[in-house]
Amino acid sequence: MAVPQNRVTRSRRNMRRSHDALVAGNPNECSNCGELKRPHHVCPSCGHYADREVVARANEVDLDDDAA
Ligand SMILES: [Zn+2]
Repeated sequence: MAVPQNRVTRSRRNMRRSHDALVAGNPNECSNCGELKRPHHVCPSCGHYADREVVARANEVDLDDDAA
């Protein structure tokens, strides 16, 4: 098994990890329903993309009723 030849100091370890932070997403408002959605993706709440419906939604499925 490979064994590290030298101890990595706290400084060097932290310098390596300085690029590891997660960045927050950059949501846009859907131009059809106003929900926040990922840019360049179909809106998950209304199924629209570029002002037209590309994914048909099932008619008014209420998830709260189904879960009970
Ligand atoms: Zn939408």
